[in-house]
Amino acid sequence: MSSPPPTPLDPGIALRLDAPQCVGCAICADVCPTRALVLTPVDLLPVWLPEACTACRICERQCPTAAITVQGRPRRRAAPSARPAATAGAAALPGPRDAT
Ligand code: SF4
Ligand code: SF4
Repeated sequence: MSSPPPTPLDPGIALRLDAPQCVGCAICADVCPTRALVLTPVDLLPVWLPEACTACRICERQCPTAAITVQGRPRRRAAPSARPAATAGAAALPGPRDAT
């Protein structure tokens, strides 16, 4: 039986990546305080972990190419036990070929 796709703890939170604008600099992953963004090793695009995201918008503000848009009201940081330990709960963001 497959697991349901991961969703933010707050369903009003969403993160959109404008993949063609992304240059793979990893700043977003570096500045995210909850490690809700990780860069894929192959294409260097950020992958969002919605369960860890607090909608703080730090990534949105720090991205040098304005490739990230965060929606939703900021919420308090999830308890450590509620946060994913790895990328197993990652939500797929559109890659360069997916964005039209
Ligand atoms: S900070 Fe912006 S350009 Fe850099 S990897 Fe993240 S989304 Fe891409
Ligand atoms: S909005 Fe904040 S918590 Fe969510 S991915 Fe961006 S930096 Fe991380």
